[in-house]
Amino acid sequence: MLAVLPVAGLAMKLSSLRKIAGSLDSTERMPVLFLGHGSPMNAIEENEFVAGFRKTAMDLPVPSAILCVSAHWETRGTLVTAMETPRTIHDFGGFPKALYDVQYPAPGSPELAREVQGSVTKAQVGLDEKWGLDHGAWSVIKHLYPNADVPVIQMSLDHYQSPQYHYELAKELTYLRSKGVLIIGSGNMVHNLRMVAWDRLNETGFGYDWAIEASEKMKDYIRSGDHQQLVNFQSQGRAFELAVPTPEHYLPLLYALALQEKDEPVDLFNDQAVAGSLTMTSVKIG
Ligand code: ZN
Repeated sequence: MLAVLPVAGLAMKLSSLRKIAGSLDSTERMPVLFLGHGSPMNAIEENEFVAGFRKTAMDLPVPSAILCVSAHWETRGTLVTAMETPRTIHDFGGFPKALYDVQYPAPGSPELAREVQGSVTKAQVGLDEKWGLDHGAWSVIKHLYPNADVPVIQMSLDHYQSPQYHYELAKELTYLRSKGVLIIGSGNMVHNLRMVAWDRLNETGFGYDWAIEASEKMKDYIRSGDHQQLVNFQSQGRAFELAVPTPEHYLPLLYALALQEKDEPVDLFNDQAVAGSLTMTSVKIG
């Protein structure tokens, strides 16, 4: 048994290497997604949002791997998960047992992690062996690929860097799109947990005036490709201040937008406010 394990590990490595290397020849450019993940309960509930995730996945070419930038992994410096088998992290509290029982056993891709480490120049990317998949990643990716058969790595958000820095760092990942890698930013464009209308938690379509105002402006900038306005979200006035009180759920949007090529189409889906102070609005580029 012990003798078999390393061979199995090697076989796995070779097969993911082949997948990544094999897609080098592909001329197809993978789309990029920003997914509004909302409540962790979306992982196990049936609703219009998970239906939207599934529908979007059906139109995608099968990726060789996924690189996910989640709101829920902030670090000092930039890390990528580099383990063979990332654990499913239940990084939340007070939810039903059924949510803690969810496992998403997608393999990792140490090869892709090293590839990113070797190619990014803006940051010294570190290889992480401790994290895994947080709910920002697995709660949405499980709806895209329920069989957990696409390798997933996460890239962390450097808590100490500016929005402009994140936008420029993301641009360096562009080439991965033509290697069959699906890049996903997972957060929420409008996300103010302190102002959630807890008594209207399940009310889809309910957004406070400031949430709607910020959301409409964000969508206008996305549609017109005016990314610099979105990078400068901290100088967009009161509605934005309330919509983005802390940057971690918003920054994954900048990672996705930075990967948009000139004149590439952008589609919005799951475009709904929930509980007053959140939007589920998601973006597909390409
Ligand atoms: Zn979240």
